[in-house]
Amino acid sequence: MNAISDRHERAQELYSILVALWPDQGPLLRYANCFELLVAVVLSAQCTDEQVNKATPALFAAFPGPRELALAPLEQVEALVRTTGFYHHKAANIIAAAKLLVEEYEATVPDSIEELVRLPGVGRKTANLVVSACFGKPGIVVDTHVLRTARRLGIAPSDEANRSERMIAELLPEAQWTAFSFAINRLGKFFCKARKPLCADCPVRILCPSAYSFG
Ligand code: SF4
Repeated sequence: MNAISDRHERAQELYSILVALWPDQGPLLRYANCFELLVAVVLSAQCTDEQVNKATPALFAAFPGPRELALAPLEQVEALVRTTGFYHHKAANIIAAAKLLVEEYEATVPDSIEELVRLPGVGRKTANLVVSACFGKPGIVVDTHVLRTARRLGIAPSDEANRSERMIAELLPEAQWTAFSFAINRLGKFFCKARKPLCADCPVRILCPSAYSFG
């Protein structure tokens, strides 16, 4: 068996086990609409979902849509997102993104990856999450958990998110992309932890070439 077919078969077996364990395909971020999800994902860079979920209710109460956020004072937005880290940058990005949504998309969120990545602060991870969670399109969301876990599992041996996304896309049909990346995210978050993976309890340890190799 060559490396490609080995990875392909492993990905299919992992899909069956992990999606049965974590069938929920939604992000752990709380949001009420596509605009809120877009903003929440931008804020989640270098920050936990829990911290973002604590910060966003006040932000969305003050600025409920792109039109309001586009006109928001930078200092006020900075204060509201301060706890998510890198708040100067994040506040400026979400205001600039809101302006672009108002100017070019009638204050709505576009539904294609190509359009979404034009928005300040929006990369492929965010764009994939928005198209899959909001618009029901296939999306492979490679966040830090997915990148690390897919690499250890040997299905996407890369340290670079866009390359990891392409490798996963080659292994599975489009219809499986969204569910698979959300399930891998859960596996990484709850078992395949960055510093000390819980291999003894991991539900896919028999398929993992990295199992028990972390001292
Ligand atoms: S066996 Fe260990 S290294 Fe492999 S996916 Fe599970 S937790 Fe991660």
